[in-house]
Amino acid sequence: MKRTVLVVNSGSSSVKFSLVDPDAGISLADGIVERVGEAESAAKLSFGGRTFTRDCRVADHDAALRVAFAMFLEAGADLADLGLVAVGHRMVHGGQRIFAPTRLDDDVVAVIAELAPLAPLHNPPGLLGIEVARRILPDLPHVGVFDTAFFHDLPAAAASYAIDREVAEAWQVRRYGFHGTSHRYVSEQAAALLGRPTAEVNQIVLHLGNGASASAIAGGRAVDTSMGMTPLEGLVMGTRCGDIDAGIIFYLARAAGMSPADIETMLNRRSGMFGLGGEIDFREVHRLIDAGDADARLAYDVYVHRLRKYVGAYLAVLGRTDVISFTAGVGENDAAVRADALSGLEPLGIRIDTERNTARSRQARVISADDSAITVLVVPTDEELAIARDVVAVLEG
Ligand code: AMP
Repeated sequence: MKRTVLVVNSGSSSVKFSLVDPDAGISLADGIVERVGEAESAAKLSFGGRTFTRDCRVADHDAALRVAFAMFLEAGADLADLGLVAVGHRMVHGGQRIFAPTRLDDDVVAVIAELAPLAPLHNPPGLLGIEVARRILPDLPHVGVFDTAFFHDLPAAAASYAIDREVAEAWQVRRYGFHGTSHRYVSEQAAALLGRPTAEVNQIVLHLGNGASASAIAGGRAVDTSMGMTPLEGLVMGTRCGDIDAGIIFYLARAAGMSPADIETMLNRRSGMFGLGGEIDFREVHRLIDAGDADARLAYDVYVHRLRKYVGAYLAVLGRTDVISFTAGVGENDAAVRADALSGLEPLGIRIDTERNTARSRQARVISADDSAITVLVVPTDEELAIARDVVAVLEG
């Protein structure tokens, strides 16, 4: 019998949901309720080749999930008929205590609530999604899948910041890493594409979306990743700065009189590609560069430079690398970023094949030349499917 999992990703102002068949590896329905809590919200559901939309005010997360369920009914999709067995919640931060996919009972929800200070931008809305979904679907199991989980076992040398140890331990300051569901899924797909067991493959995964992160994975175990205590560290992102000198924060507080909240907002929302060039969508960035825009050019150059630094660092961390995979919105679609990130690295065993790299495809594929010692892939990520599979694995014990 068909079984499906409803995967919910509850953000501060949007709720995304997908109905996934984990056995067939497909999504039956995808939807989003955007601008939750604002004057004009928008809801969209794609199901059975049709798209349903609603423009209405959605006051809060409770209303958002209720709108989502109403749209399923409108689409003629009865969740019970579609074999709904559980709800999977994408959670950002599991702290030190939660790393495996976990059934969400009152005790676990209380632990997640305690973790809010570690991820104040992401965990509270996720928790709200759990509370609302458990209220609306009380008879189904709810399972949390954590973005930090894949990086829980980072070697201490990669997980530790070189700061006062007592302070770090008292305040759980370490590198947690994020996008773990995607890094794990893509690394498994990459090993499968090479026809080798994950345990034998050393790889670098470059998840380049609005948020961006890199990871080094040795034989299936993450040994380093670019995001740290928060998703702010590492690569240049759509609106986040990635690596900066921590001294900048104190300088701005002292010299510019900015508060910690001002600085946090600036680094998270007005930095990265947006901060440098005023644009986060790479299609637009390329258009601006072609039109001679110097800011867009600088943003692109800083982005690519940082990416190359991480590739170089992870080649050294791994010692032997078999495969490098690009994934997420930019990684899957932007051939120029892929080519520029890895150009001139033939002495390190990396040779991109231009024709393969620029061919349009939605499939996982090789983009390196046959004589490239390191295979380079494009692997579409599917975090919803990975979450749904984790959920059924928890149900099956
Ligand atoms: P994600 O967070 O994975 O959904 O990625 C979103 C980002 O992917 C967008 O902000 C764009 O910069 C990028 N993107 C999506 N489609 C394309 C495309 N066809 N070419 C270049 N970049 C793209």
